[in-house]
Amino acid sequence: MQQEDKLQQYLQQGILGTPELKREERQQYLGQFRERVLKIMRQNELRDPRYIDGMIKAFDDPRAYRLYIRTDEQLQGTLEFSKLTRAAQSKKLPFSFVDRATYQGDIAIVLVAEDAVDEVGIEIKISDLPLAFYQHLGKTICKDCYEKIQKEFPVYEGKFKKAGFWQKLFGYQCPIEEEHRGTT
Ligand SMILES: [Zn+2]
Repeated sequence: MQQEDKLQQYLQQGILGTPELKREERQQYLGQFRERVLKIMRQNELRDPRYIDGMIKAFDDPRAYRLYIRTDEQLQGTLEFSKLTRAAQSKKLPFSFVDRATYQGDIAIVLVAEDAVDEVGIEIKISDLPLAFYQHLGKTICKDCYEKIQKEFPVYEGKFKKAGFWQKLFGYQCPIEEEHRGTT
């Protein structure tokens, strides 16, 4: 190859990226270019309401343009899944399903902008509250669990109610089962 041609090629790759790389990138992001991606969800995050809620929150981003969902028989029909699609519908965010077998990697959902945004943090940041507690936000929990929240996650203290005398008297069952394994 001529020196000049080589230079031309470098320049082009610098601007557009190598075609091969772009193809692989699109494979990973369900057919979308990385530069348009706002948020992603991975396969193992789909059943965790903390991630689902994080994604739904991202729908409010004014740049949110379309949602791509990789089809998964196991996911369809689940509570989390309908919560996600209902939220997209109510926020008038169009979504498309893509064939599971066509793409590689563990990315299951991609939220994109209309144009290139080069978003850096595309992973969903979740609440540090353990899942068992997160699933019961707003509920009445036992004294021990309540004290754990006060001590370890004080910002969430107002999000729970502490079981009182009467509840205990009538055989109150704390909903945070993970905290009571083997004790009940
Ligand atoms: Zn408890």
